[in-house]
This record gives sequence, C-alpha cells and structure tokens, in this order.
Amino acid sequence: MTGYYGGIEAGGTKFNCIIAADPANILAEARFPTTTPDETLAQVIAWFRAAPVPLRAIGIGSFGPVDLNPASPTYGYITTTPKPGWQYTDLAGAVRRALNVPVAFDTDVNAAALGEWRWGAAQGLDTVLYITVGTGIGGGGMVGGRLLHGLLHPEMGHIRLPRDPQRDPFPGICPYHGDCFEGLCSGPALRVRWGQDPATLPQDHAAWALQAHYTALALVNYICVLSPQRIILGGGVMNNLFLFPLIRREVQALLNGYIVHPDLHEHIERYIVPPALGARAGVLGAVALAQRFFDASA
Ligand code: ZN
Repeated sequence: MTGYYGGIEAGGTKFNCIIAADPANILAEARFPTTTPDETLAQVIAWFRAAPVPLRAIGIGSFGPVDLNPASPTYGYITTTPKPGWQYTDLAGAVRRALNVPVAFDTDVNAAALGEWRWGAAQGLDTVLYITVGTGIGGGGMVGGRLLHGLLHPEMGHIRLPRDPQRDPFPGICPYHGDCFEGLCSGPALRVRWGQDPATLPQDHAAWALQAHYTALALVNYICVLSPQRIILGGGVMNNLFLFPLIRREVQALLNGYIVHPDLHEHIERYIVPPALGARAGVLGAVALAQRFFDASA
C-alpha cells in the first residue's frame, strides 16, 4: 500500500502544502498566504484535516531562524525572525497537536536539500548544498549524509563578501549586517538597489553581472569550507536561468584552478545546477523529511 505524507514549506510570503508519496504520486496541493500565525495555521490545519487519505507523518521545512534541538523547550518553533508576529511561533507543535500525526521539522533549505537528494539533482551524493536566492537567502544541505544542523543551523545567506565601494557603492539592506550576501543579493535587495522589480530587469542589465559576481564569491567560500559534491541554486531570483553560466564562469575564475576536479572544470554545468524538482523542491523536501522520520520511527 502506498503511504502518503504531508509536506509544508513554510515561507515568509506563503505556505505551500502537499499530500504525496513521492514526486510521481501527488494527491493534492495548496498554498496559503503568510499573514498571522493564527490565521495561516488555521488554514493549513483545516486543509490537512480534509486530506483524502490518512497521513503517516507531516514534514515541515520552515523559514527561520528555527529551533531544531529536540531537547529544547522551544523545539519546532520559529524563533527570532524579523517577520512581524511570527517570533516564537510553535509551528511543529501546533500542527502535531491539531492533526495528531508525527511531525518532522527542519529548515526550508535543509528540506529542499533532502528532497533533491531523495528524488532530484543530488541523488547518489552525500555532501551537497541547496542555496535559495529569493525573498531571503539561505543555505542547507548535507555533509557525509547528515543534514547540517550544528549549534543552531547554518545561516549561509549572512556571510560577508568582499565589496569594492568604487565598483559598488550600495551598502546593502540586511538589518543586521548591511552588505552580507542576503543584504546585497536577495530579491528585496535588488529591488532597493535598482529601484524596480527585479523580475523586470532585462537580461543585459548590469544588475546580473554583479549578482553573478557576489553569488560566485559566496559559492567559492562554501566550496572551500565544505567541499560539496554539487551545489543546487533555487529560489525566485535563480529562476533567471541565464545567471547559471555567469555564476559558473565566475566561480571558475575565482577558484583560479586551485581545486582540481573535473566537476569544477570541464563539467561545471553539472556541478552548479537548478533544482531538478523545480519550484516543488521545498515542499517535496518536506515530504522527504516526513518519510524519513516515519521510517526511522517504524
Ligand atoms: Zn545579514
């Protein structure tokens, strides 16, 4: 019998929900705007209550910061988010109590990485990164087959990048760091920097060479620290697929031949890639989280 799982990709603008066994067996999908915790969670819970099949477990991949320490009293919470109204929201607990199913919880980017590892662009590998460049920038993944957690969880969007104020006087918009990666390259940063919706910037606009430059600087840092076998770049900004060749070329230029591997040279097009699950990477990743949790406790 096919076992079905719930997946929730909890984002700052919307909650994507799915009932599926795997990418080939999707029963239902829905999305709800992220308004207040009470309103959004009530919609999500009502939708899962009406599920046409019993669910073995629900996985949640959430925006953050989140508490991933099972021993902590605030495990499963969104914690210090700047998103108004969402500080210290008990996301996993609310879903578990209302629906009475086991709930697996992780960051949105770790979920997406797991989904890509299970069904997508990272199959067969054990050390991979998933970076999202959209409303915010975040990164997750696995090293040696384990999802990255650590002290809290990585915050790959907030690394500092060298910025030449002559070439780029924009100070960035991160409220904590100014010109960190997210402060320079998120969708909202592009909007402030260029004074228009980034979706309307033409392909030959100077925005994109700069975007590729900073993204490549970030990737080179991740490559040097974690030695990932593949890097998946998702998120709304990366829907501009023309960025991929620019980023790959710049990564090669920055590494300057120092790290020798065919995937960084003649095959870099298979090293820095879009998500194979497309826009469903996060929500199917949440299904993968649920499935793994169910299998581990069975
Ligand atoms: Zn920052």
